[in-house]
Order: sequence, then structure tokens, then C-alpha cells
Amino acid sequence: MDVAPRDPAKYDAVVVGAGPNGLAAAIVLARAGCEVLVVEAAESVGGGTRSAALTLPGFVHDVCSAIHPLGAGSPLFQTFPLDRFGLEWIQPPVPLAHPLDDGTAVLLERTVEATAAGLGPDASAYRRLMAPLVADADRILRFILGPFRIPRHPLALARFGLKALRSVVGLASEQFEGERARALLAGLAAHSMLPLERSPSAAVGLVLAMLGHTAGWPLPRGGSQRIADTLAAYVRSLGGEIVTGRPVRALDELPPCRAVLLDLTPRQVLAIAGQRFPAGYRRWLERYRYGPGVYKMDWALAGPIPWRAPECQRAATVHLGGTLDEIAAAERAVTAGRHPERPFVILAQPSLFDPSRAPAGRHTAWAYCHVPNSSRVDMTERIEAQVERFAPGFRDLILARSVSRPADLEQYNLNYVGGDINGGLQDLRQLFTRPAPRLNPYTTPDPRLYICSASTPPGGGVHGMCGYWAARAALRRVLRVPRRRA
Ligand SMILES: Cc1cc2nc3c(=O)[nH]c(=O)nc-3n(C[C@H](O)[C@H](O)[C@H](O)COP(=O)(O)OP(=O)(O)OC[C@H]3O[C@@H](n4cnc5c(N)ncnc54)[C@H](O)[C@@H]3O)c2cc1C
Repeated sequence: MDVAPRDPAKYDAVVVGAGPNGLAAAIVLARAGCEVLVVEAAESVGGGTRSAALTLPGFVHDVCSAIHPLGAGSPLFQTFPLDRFGLEWIQPPVPLAHPLDDGTAVLLERTVEATAAGLGPDASAYRRLMAPLVADADRILRFILGPFRIPRHPLALARFGLKALRSVVGLASEQFEGERARALLAGLAAHSMLPLERSPSAAVGLVLAMLGHTAGWPLPRGGSQRIADTLAAYVRSLGGEIVTGRPVRALDELPPCRAVLLDLTPRQVLAIAGQRFPAGYRRWLERYRYGPGVYKMDWALAGPIPWRAPECQRAATVHLGGTLDEIAAAERAVTAGRHPERPFVILAQPSLFDPSRAPAGRHTAWAYCHVPNSSRVDMTERIEAQVERFAPGFRDLILARSVSRPADLEQYNLNYVGGDINGGLQDLRQLFTRPAPRLNPYTTPDPRLYICSASTPPGGGVHGMCGYWAARAALRRVLRVPRRRA
């Protein structure tokens, strides 16, 4: 336990769960002058942003999130003085590499121009697609990183929406003629965990590309735990209190307060507070749909990954899946409840850019692939075969490996239901209406209770925006903080 609360009766708000959204909510509340307590089940803060020695002594691995385009691009985090509390983003020279079987790699570079230069016949098409979005990036991000509302910049949004509300297969096939550009966009869009033939998979691809050109795809020096630790230090500097090692099983375990914000997904919300809701709302939460799970691996390596395309060493993130057709087939299989022979693998190699992650000369790697929710199939061999395909000799470097199956992830953090890392499926139906269709999705029928997790808009990722919107709702409704201060 970090800090024993001094006077339980004094809190304006209690936040249950110290994930990035819970901590962000606590900061927004404390900045508005509220007395805040955060109660976390695990022994340390962080939720999906923690690091640990998962393999051998001296190797630091990110247990969940590793690469943070959404963190660096978050309009909320940009208002936090996190550098003062020790957060340092490391920007690899290239946000993303996507190797192909011909021994080359497509690169998402920091600029549209440099990326286009690597796309051969699709250079102009990439410029035409991305340059207007990058010019409007600020407006687009501010809109999409929140609940559905009337846009302040409808033209910018319309330009984005016309492309984003499509399937990536449709968009890439229409815009690009070559395999390189199609593969790049497909890999980006596969982060949506949707079949690539389904809308709005293109939105995720376009946003991640846009962030590559604006905020970069950085990693925190020392590991993702640093993000959580700096958010927690900021909470405390504002007078907030954090208690760890205390799983909340019922609301009456919490000290008296005017608002409770739950950094939890619908399943845990129902377990803790279900009896407070009318049957209609309860049914919405019961019907909430979780998405595919992930099968995650970490390696301690004797050296850097020997990529056949040496340019892969310029990026911390590498997409392993080959062509658009191949990635689409892998993701289609997962949605159909099958396990692809050649899964789409998202790999990070943090120690190439952050020597603090491994002993001198040694390296770490982090990777996961999508699998059906609650899958029990062993994907170790298939993930390592995908790495070996683009980096022959990889297996010879493995000193130790750690495997997290969907059930392990759920045991580690109850929010990862069946291994779903996004707090619920992010399809068109559940994008803005998560966890239930309400005018303000962060509120619940109990005026004291709010939901601030990734199960609210804008969904998964380390950006704190769910926490921001939920805290704003609580400030205005229960805590009666005027609109401007909220
Ligand atoms: C393997 C993996 C890789 C990922 N990679 C990335 C990435 O590279 N970049 C990125 O941006 N995102 C990534 N993510 C997603 C990201 O981690 C999550 O979307 C994000 O952490 C969600 O934040 P949250 O605050 O909503 O919930 P969480 O981070 O899940 O935090 C919820 C907290 O609530 C606590 N809790 C749960 N139940 C209770 C209870 N009853 N009482 C008290 N506390 C409770 C949990 O212990 C946890 O600390 C990844 C996730 C995983 C699992």
C-alpha cells in the first residue's frame, strides 16, 4: 500500500483503478480543486502501463503497452508537466518498419514526404491521402479522442470521415496500386482488431499514420511504468492520494464521497455496482461486446534482431505480416474464431533506443498477435516463425522468453476480458456508444457513478482521454464545478 488515506470523509471523488485513464481522471479532478482518492487492486499503479523483469535479471520488459503514439499525441497529456516528474519520450528515427519477403521494408517516416519517397508508384497517392489529414491533425484528434458531439471544424472532419469510415481493404485498394503502400496501411489498420474488410478499420490506420507524422511513435525511457509513475506523482503533487493493493469488490467498501469514477470495463462495473442500475442499463452492460484477445511474448536476446532489411533497426515498432492480403486473411481468421498459421505480429524492440532496458550488448523484444477472445491455443511457435521469416537467426539469439496468454492477461488485469486489450470491441456500433448508448457515455443512471476506462470513447490506448471526459462529466454534474473550470 502506497499511502494510508488520512481522513476518509474528506473526498470529493474516488477513482477505482489506477490505469492511465483512472490516473488522468484523478489529475483532472485534483486540478479543479477536488479532494481525490485513487484505489488500485494491484500492488503498483499503472494498469496497462507497467514494466517488470519478465525474463532474466537486468532485462526490463513492458508488461502491456510499449509504444505510445496516442500518449505523445494526447491533447490531455500535453497539458500535464510530465517531464517534471521524470517522463522522457524517446523518438526512434522512424516510427514504424514493415518488412516484406523481398528483403526490403516499407517505412512510416516522420514526414509524409519521406514516407512517400519509399512507396514507388504510390508516392503521389500517399501525399494526396495523408498531407491534408496531417494539416488538420490537431482538429481531427481533438474530435475523435472523445464522445460523439457536434464538430467545431466540420470540413476537416468531413475530409477525414469520408476516408476513415471505410474498410482499409476498400481504401487501400482504391488509393494505391503497389503492394508496399497497401501493406503499410493494412498493418496500421490491423491495430483496430477488426477484419480489414470492415469499417472503420481505415480510421485506425489513418490516425496511426497521422500520429507518426505529427507526434511520432515514442517509447518512455526506462519502460512504460514511467508513464504510470509520473502520472501518479502528478496526482500526489496536486494533493491526491493513491492506495494500492486494495481490490474493490463493492461500492460500500469505499469512503464516503460525492462521485465515484470506475476505471473498469462493463463486466466489473456490473459486479461492483450492477444492483444500482435500472434493468435497461444493466442489460446494455451485459450485452457489451468484447473483442479478440492477444497472445503476447517477451524475449531477452543475446543481440539485436538480425533483420534481413537493415532499415528495420531504425524503428522501435515493426509490423510482421507481409502483404495486405496476408494481413487481411490473418485478421479475418481471428474474427471467425480461428488461429492463423501466419498471424499478424506487432513487435517492439525498445532496447535498441533505450539501453536501460537490458544489460550491455543484450536486447529485449516485445510482440503480440491477435487471437480469438479467451483462446487457449499456443501461438509461440507461429509468432517466432513470423519473426524468423523476416530476421533469419532470431531464434538463436533467444536467452529467455515470457508468454502471456489471454487468460494470463485477464488474471493480471481484470479489465483484459478474454485477453481483449481495448476494453471492448471497437467497431462502428461500439465506437462512440461504449459502454451504452447515452447522451453522455461516461455517466450512468446513478448520478454519483461514472465510467472512465477504455470501455468509453475513444477506447483503447494510453492517452488518458476517457479519464478526462469522465472527470469533466463528474465535475459538472456532481461537483458543480463551472463549465469553464471543468
Ligand atoms: C499486451 C498489451 C499491449 C498493449 N500495447 C499498447 C501500446 O503499445 N500502446 C498503447 O497505447 N496501448 C497499448 N495497450 C492498451 C493499453 O494498455 C490500454 O488500452 C490502457 O491501459 C487502458 O487504460 P485504462 O486506464 O482504461 O485501463 P487499465 O490500464 O486496464 O487500468 C485499469 C486498472 O484498474 C485496476 N482494477 C481493476 N479492477 C479493479 C478493482 N475491482 N478494484 C481496484 N482496481 C481495479 C486494474 O488493476 C488496473 O490497474 C496494450 C495493452 C496490452 C494488454
